[in-house]
Amino acid sequence: MPGDLILVLDEGTTSTRAMIFTAAGLQLAVAQRELIQHYPAPGHVEHDPAEIWDKTLGVAQDAVRQAGGAERIAAIGITNQRETVVAWDKAGGQPLSRALVWQDRRTAAQCGQLRAAGHEDAVREKTGLLLDPYFSATKMRWLIDNEPQVAAAAAKGTLAFGTIESWLLYNLTGGAHLSDASNASRTLLLPLEGASWDAGLCDLFGVPSRALPEVCDNAGPIASTSPDLFGRAIPICGLAGDQQSATIGQACLNPGDCKATYGTGAFVLSNMGSTVPRSANRLLGTVLRQLGGQRHYALEGSVFVAGSLIQWLRDTLGIISSADETARLAASIPDSGGVTIVPALSGLGAPHWRPEARGAIAGLSFNSGKAQIARAALEAMSHQTHDLARAFEADDAGWTSLRIDGGMSANDWMAQDLADILRLPVERPDYVETTALGAAVLAALGVGLYPDLESAARSMRGPARIFEPMMEDGDRRERLTRWQAAIASV
Ligand code: ADP
Repeated sequence: MPGDLILVLDEGTTSTRAMIFTAAGLQLAVAQRELIQHYPAPGHVEHDPAEIWDKTLGVAQDAVRQAGGAERIAAIGITNQRETVVAWDKAGGQPLSRALVWQDRRTAAQCGQLRAAGHEDAVREKTGLLLDPYFSATKMRWLIDNEPQVAAAAAKGTLAFGTIESWLLYNLTGGAHLSDASNASRTLLLPLEGASWDAGLCDLFGVPSRALPEVCDNAGPIASTSPDLFGRAIPICGLAGDQQSATIGQACLNPGDCKATYGTGAFVLSNMGSTVPRSANRLLGTVLRQLGGQRHYALEGSVFVAGSLIQWLRDTLGIISSADETARLAASIPDSGGVTIVPALSGLGAPHWRPEARGAIAGLSFNSGKAQIARAALEAMSHQTHDLARAFEADDAGWTSLRIDGGMSANDWMAQDLADILRLPVERPDYVETTALGAAVLAALGVGLYPDLESAARSMRGPARIFEPMMEDGDRRERLTRWQAAIASV
């Protein structure tokens, strides 16, 4: 009789982690390794798929050891950076190129051409997405057009495309080619209301449908690991893209419940129930979860640059030595002294969608030092979130509170500033790794430790702290006016 622990594989953009959770949602163990980011040209961002698998297996085996062996694991849940594309050969399982990461902008021109040819409305109607390089389909086509090994495998019929969960599943199981509906809904190839890939969309983007995985539920008996990896076959029972997983980990189970995750980028998802979301304000419609073939949807706003701005201050400019130093610096001054940062370092996502925009630091004076810049960087998170809040409101999906999580949400100064600028209560669970927790919830549900999603998510989510708005309205208005001027200038 196996134990009742859950192994979660959390495949982020900057690191891969394996975590052990109890059935009550407590984290018992974690093993983590950084992933190498490859930037071969401006706007190009790549990962090495072999490195992802090797490090994932390494941390998974480490976590299983820490848990006391594979017998103690009831099920595996996987959550992952979405949209990133891996191409491999079904014949030998070898990757055929580097993975193109969601941040990669190299297909901007291809997207522009499709937009100019008038395809965007139909694509949006079917998939809930826009023609932006962020999504997977144009990346897949780019690989066929530019990587001879990918083209050769496509011609032979042995090409496999997948997002990261699909690549991990393939390796964990020794050959299953699957993708869950939440990840599949980020490719531009899955209709929000269709069970599988759309032939017309595959044609439009030039992606051979036989290279694509089978679309499956987010929880249930999805597959099993090869016995040799952990000493016994462990069932894989939960699978979800990182943002959908965090939404579940935050127990945003009812229509209107809304969360924002601040990691490398920032992602706001609002539960829309079984209503297919249609945004008139350039937000995205996405599959939140599919259970027993039944879908629930979310309206999503994706901001490309959040924690990566802090990383840039630390690693490229070198003006801070750690990310959490920003909170102390921001609190050390009464305001940013007029400094405003537009974090468009890799273009602007929702609701602006301007891939060609680039970042700016406005309002510099001789009085501007690292405290002003650090503060402006954190303030930019509230400004970007505020723009999303307005767009959700305009789509009749206004927020009444916001649940936050992700590595950056540990920053108390930012959490308070968000509450102030949004004029809403901001709720942060004590345990902020809600992305991993969501995958644990799905796996616990999928293996039968709980009878339904509601009881799994509510039992496994811990206590939270609430930040209430306190800022004077004049200060708030001044901040937003400065932001609007700065963003209009980039
Ligand atoms: P991902 O899952 O996208 O890899 P994480 O959720 O682990 O990202 O968050 C890491 C990001 O959060 C990094 O970009 C880092 O710069 C930022 N970050 C972490 N802690 C803080 C902090 N205390 N203040 C500001 N930013 C932070």
